[in-house]
Amino acid sequence: MVGEENKGLAAMFVMMNAARLGVGIQGLGQADIAFQNAVQYAQDRRQGRALTGPADPQEKADPLFVHPDVRRMLMDSKATVEGLRALCLWGALQVDLAHVAETEEERQQADDLVSLLTPVIKGYGTDRGYDVATNAQQVFGGHGYIEEQGMSQYVRDARITMIYEGANGVQAMDLVGRKLAQNGGRAIQAFFAIVDSECAAAKDKPAFADFAARLEKANGELKAATMWFMQNGMANPNNIGAGAHHYMHIMGIVALGSMWLMMAEAAQKALDEGRGNKAFLEAKLVTARHFGERFFPDAGALRRKIEAGSEAMMALTPDQFFAA
Ligand SMILES: Cc1cc2nc3c(=O)[nH]c(=O)nc-3n(C[C@H](O)[C@H](O)[C@H](O)COP(=O)(O)OP(=O)(O)OC[C@H]3O[C@@H](n4cnc5c(N)ncnc54)[C@H](O)[C@@H]3O)c2cc1C
Repeated sequence: MVGEENKGLAAMFVMMNAARLGVGIQGLGQADIAFQNAVQYAQDRRQGRALTGPADPQEKADPLFVHPDVRRMLMDSKATVEGLRALCLWGALQVDLAHVAETEEERQQADDLVSLLTPVIKGYGTDRGYDVATNAQQVFGGHGYIEEQGMSQYVRDARITMIYEGANGVQAMDLVGRKLAQNGGRAIQAFFAIVDSECAAAKDKPAFADFAARLEKANGELKAATMWFMQNGMANPNNIGAGAHHYMHIMGIVALGSMWLMMAEAAQKALDEGRGNKAFLEAKLVTARHFGERFFPDAGALRRKIEAGSEAMMALTPDQFFAA
């Protein structure tokens, strides 16, 4: 007998929660290595010409790096990988604080945040990790489909992280069906408050006002989606199930946005003080801007999907799915 009789499920969840965070980090690792390969390939492979005129006129073609659509995939990947890495580290810090923070209140809040964000790190993290691996494969064009390059292996490996340790649809239900309401919504209220205070502090700084306004808006979409669930979930629980995946993704966008604001502020501070690697720090600022421009707008679209409810989603009989 390990532990107390009839307390096995609770003990199992100690292991499961750690495993879920571990799988989130696995998704991040696969995304990162696939991304690094794509960056290298985009430098080496020459195909077509820059839209603005030849970048390397002495060569027969320009490197893939000149094409905005290749940049789209690489920048989305960079913004995701670095944002997720920061979120995983921040989550690990909360795990430590839950044990060793000075006050009971701080330990409680850290524990609440880890519990709330575990399905996000696992579910959103591996959904996005798979997207990054697929985009990295896409950067290789036809060569991405050839086993020898190794890119399709990354995609396959990233795919399992969305399924095991609880499929991502179940992670989303854990977030929306259990974690939001726990302790009267204490964890989600703490999360909202952290993001709000981060935005309020950044809005006064001209370099970050735009980013902070975008993050605040995305956090507002998350609040509105939470309220919509409260108003429409009791009458029809399918409304919660139909929106759970989207909700998990809005929370992922807000959580990564919060990380990007912290990273950008830290990078700017180091630049102002003449510390660190300038190219690295400047890249952080540009990547944060890319995240703000390209990821925050999705929060509004996802909220609208949630507010569409579940009627059309649940209306067809299984037979009607076969009707041609
Ligand atoms: C390669 C591999 C290794 C594994 N290793 C281990 C291991 O070492 N130990 C171990 O214990 N398990 C292991 N598993 C099992 C794994 O954890 C499960 O496969 C996973 O949790 C999904 O459960 P399932 O296969 O029963 O899918 P199902 O529960 O049948 O889910 C099928 C689909 O329905 C959705 N779904 C199911 N229920 C709901 C719901 N209530 N609400 C919304 N959507 C729902 C899911 O999201 C999923 O998309 C492994 C699986 C694989 C593929």
